[in-house]
Amino acid sequence: MSLALSGIGVSRGVAIGKAHIILRGTVEVLESAIPKHLIEDEVARYLKAVDCARQQLQDIRVRIPENTQVDIAAFIDTHLLMLDDATLLTTPVEIIRERGCNAEWALKLQRNAVVDVFEQMDDPYLRTRRDDIDHVINRLQRILLDYEQDDAHFEGTPLDNAIVLAYDLTPAETVLLEHQGISAFATECGGPLSHTAILARSMQIPALVGTHGLRRYIRDGETVILDGLQGILIAGPDEQILDHYRERQQLEQQRKLQMERLTDSPAITRDGMPVTLMVNIELPEDIDAVSRESANGVGLYRTEFLYMNRSEPPDEEEQYDCYVSVIEALRGKPLTIRTLDMGADKQADTINQSCSNPALGLRAVRLCLKNHSLFKPQLRAILRASAHGPVRLMVPMLSNTQELHQVLSLVNDTKNALQREAIAFSPDIKIGGMIEVPAAALSASEFASHLDFLSIGTNDLIQYTLAIDRVDDEVNYLYDPLHPAVLKLIKMTIDAGASAGVPVSMCGEMAGDPRYTRLLLGMGLTEFSMHHTALQEVKHVINASTITALVPLVQELLDNTKPGWIAARVDSLNHNSH
Ligand code: PEP
Ligand code: MG
Repeated sequence: MSLALSGIGVSRGVAIGKAHIILRGTVEVLESAIPKHLIEDEVARYLKAVDCARQQLQDIRVRIPENTQVDIAAFIDTHLLMLDDATLLTTPVEIIRERGCNAEWALKLQRNAVVDVFEQMDDPYLRTRRDDIDHVINRLQRILLDYEQDDAHFEGTPLDNAIVLAYDLTPAETVLLEHQGISAFATECGGPLSHTAILARSMQIPALVGTHGLRRYIRDGETVILDGLQGILIAGPDEQILDHYRERQQLEQQRKLQMERLTDSPAITRDGMPVTLMVNIELPEDIDAVSRESANGVGLYRTEFLYMNRSEPPDEEEQYDCYVSVIEALRGKPLTIRTLDMGADKQADTINQSCSNPALGLRAVRLCLKNHSLFKPQLRAILRASAHGPVRLMVPMLSNTQELHQVLSLVNDTKNALQREAIAFSPDIKIGGMIEVPAAALSASEFASHLDFLSIGTNDLIQYTLAIDRVDDEVNYLYDPLHPAVLKLIKMTIDAGASAGVPVSMCGEMAGDPRYTRLLLGMGLTEFSMHHTALQEVKHVINASTITALVPLVQELLDNTKPGWIAARVDSLNHNSH
């Protein structure tokens, strides 16, 4: 009899193989009292474990195969840095001394305290960094408890096409397993933004996380199927199921080759309309994706990530250096730097924001206009960086034209000041605004008449149009990019840009979802910015589309508001040869 378990698919692809189970689970520890005269011995035992963990990580670092595409060394370095941080080096020692307890218990208490801080973070990326903490602490606990045999799984034994099932895997272990020949993995823990999940996508290994109970229900050596797109793990499949997935595997393989072949070709519709495809970046390291995917540039640089995880905001000089390094890496391709969009789900310790309703409170441009000491260094840094290459400055969350005029006047003041100081900048720097609030979409013509470009931020536009908090799981089911009101606002913005001769792009998640590409093309959108992993898929759809056929079909679709009708029509747009 076959059994299907569901998990979160974090890396697409289908694998069929034998289950290789790594039994290691969470480490259970108990508190024991240490007599006063043995406390320093316990401290020494703990510090020896830290040394041993450091040595293990350095050994793994050396064993990373040379042709590894992903910078796995950077992940291991993060873990090494944690071992040298007071959080793990000093605080557990203080706990052992103050509480008179064993090292394992002190480490567990410290883990709970640190994880509590991470859990309170609203940013999902930062929240998943707790996985790194757990990986390092579990390593230390296993050393303290003498569970060294667990590492035997990663010592190079060939695991030809095995599907690894584990409670959790660190990024370092994942890369070692890949080089041992595994075809896929599933874990019980982890989230889609964990480093292990990011690695799986980069290495193109099908993977699931959050697959509860997998080690309880599946036997070592039994045949399993893992579907990374649907998030399913099937044990004991019969011939019919196997045939179905073998076919899926072949289709996936063809799709992969098709996408690879596309990388160097331009995005152009069948009837000859060129489309601009840009990437969204969050950290300067993300910039490599622009050349790897042959993107036209960066359509959204979320600068707020520069302000997170630190005690002081970055000063003008640091920002300038950072922006210049990104511009240089882009070698002439445009960089759209979005001014600080802090607030709501993105918080920084350095900026004190206490709003009763964060998504509607003092966030993004509102915060910057209230706090010039935060905004001005960024404007100066962006303007100075504009002397080094094609930079566009983009303002998030505009909701009225007064805000826009205040920003434009601050930009002018900054230009004048730089001129007086004889500091170079590009006087023609393009200034654009994000359309993410319904009020801005409804006034898009007014915004277009004062700006050089508009960019539609659908993540927020949908949140504010439908009155649903985008980070609240309870109302996620209402998050609907195809809601007729959302589509009307998008269309209004695109049309306003076209009438004013101002380019309009889209940089929300909707732009990177191939299910909406034809709809957006038919609405007149010709500039998309997205996560780099979506770029070839979107290009594939563009290159198979005919704008002249799409425009009337989409117009008809927009005129209809019957529930379910729009989704059905979008589906048919995608499945017919338009
Ligand atoms: C958006 O709102 O669509 C957007 C791109 O901005 P962010 O997701 O950073 O809020
Ligand atoms: Mg936004």
